[in-house]
Amino acid sequence: LSDRLGGVFDRLTKQGALSEDDVRTALREVRVALLEADVSLPVARNFIKAVEKKATGAAVTKSVTPGQQVVKIVHDELIEVLSGEGEPGELRIDQAPAPILMVGLQGGGKTTTTAKLAKRLTERDKKKVLMASLDVQRPAAMEQLEVLGKQIGVDTLPIVKGEDPVAIAKRAKTQASLGGYDVYMLDTAGRLSIDEELMAQVAAVRDVANPRETLLVVDGLTGQDAVHTAENFDERIGISGVVLTRMDGDGRGGAALSMRAITGKPIKFVGLGEKMDALETFEPDRVAGRILGMGDIVALVEKAQQTLEAEQAERMMKRFQKGQFNMNDLKMQLEQMQKMGGMEGMMSMMPGMGKMAKQMDGAGIDDSMLRRQIALINSMTKKERANPQLLQASRKKRIAKGSGLEVSELNKLLKMQRQMGDMMKKMGKGGALKQAMSGMF
Ligand code: GDP
Ligand code: MG
Repeated sequence: LSDRLGGVFDRLTKQGALSEDDVRTALREVRVALLEADVSLPVARNFIKAVEKKATGAAVTKSVTPGQQVVKIVHDELIEVLSGEGEPGELRIDQAPAPILMVGLQGGGKTTTTAKLAKRLTERDKKKVLMASLDVQRPAAMEQLEVLGKQIGVDTLPIVKGEDPVAIAKRAKTQASLGGYDVYMLDTAGRLSIDEELMAQVAAVRDVANPRETLLVVDGLTGQDAVHTAENFDERIGISGVVLTRMDGDGRGGAALSMRAITGKPIKFVGLGEKMDALETFEPDRVAGRILGMGDIVALVEKAQQTLEAEQAERMMKRFQKGQFNMNDLKMQLEQMQKMGGMEGMMSMMPGMGKMAKQMDGAGIDDSMLRRQIALINSMTKKERANPQLLQASRKKRIAKGSGLEVSELNKLLKMQRQMGDMMKKMGKGGALKQAMSGMF
């Protein structure tokens, strides 16, 4: 609700608009920040271009500079790009036993992440989890998972020497079904670089297990390489999500942006250390702040906007309570309705207005009507908008002529403005208005 109705106050908070110069100057700094955070050049370039278009002409909030405002817009856009579909950290593990396939290069953090995730699923989601190591390449790799399993209290598939990965996957599947497990996790072997043998092996395991989730585990510090790895694995195996490890390091996490922009795959989790609880849900806003390295500015702009909106809303509410609802207010409402797809959508969100919405709908308020009503208000002088009671016959004729519409339509508009004013006043007395408006922030 707050997002949709917050826009109502756009007009009030607007002190001016960002000029092309403002935007370009600020974006130069942002570009440096992105590159420093290890965002790849083409991704940074495209991103900046997209933001430039969006930011030019955007409203500027009083009490912050245009440059600060641009940083905030960049920050919001970063979050937008970084966010995947669905809830962050969510996995498709509804049908038991749900297979999760862990893939990636050697040393990326697959085994560690398998155990971390198993711990999380066990403790947080109350799932019964079975882990199986398919790493027959590296000596002691299977024991590594077994040790971790004991440490976190999660079952591992017993090790059978000499078995190949496909056979292990089959055994894990059987064991998971028989043992009543909700989830079974397959920790595959990695290579130092992508090669045909690795891919063929992983593909064979995939075909046997038919995983619900295929998570690529990559070292977040490797930047551009991580993105290439993701592209390759996705092409050959098909991945459903990414886990970025070593996000506890010095890196500023630019790989996350490149990863999202290039592969389009959701980043589900981030690894923040070697310990078993150092796995967190990927949070786009935190990573955005880190990539930009300008979190203080973002907070400042947010605060300024909130304060201003709250003040303005308070002032507006006081006026409405006194029954002061003029043509400027009405125009703002009408424009908002246009944006939100008509009267009913808007009214139905405000308590007590559902009925009126239906009546107005019956009266045929549609898009073209909204446009005509706004045209009428545009033909009024500033004084008339603030004091609609000034509108006597001659002024009405002038306004109708100016907007190319009939006086009868203007009369309907005036009636609507009075009705809405009355309603606001009534709601104000009962406290419903305050409630409705406080929900906006
Ligand atoms: P695998 O070869 O892909 O299975 O990688 P491992 O799980 O064996 O991890 C390789 C090394 O990276 C180990 O020493 C882990 O402790 C370490 N590691 C894994 N994830 C993280 C992380 O998020 N942060 C840090 N600092 N180290 C990690
Ligand atoms: Mg491993």
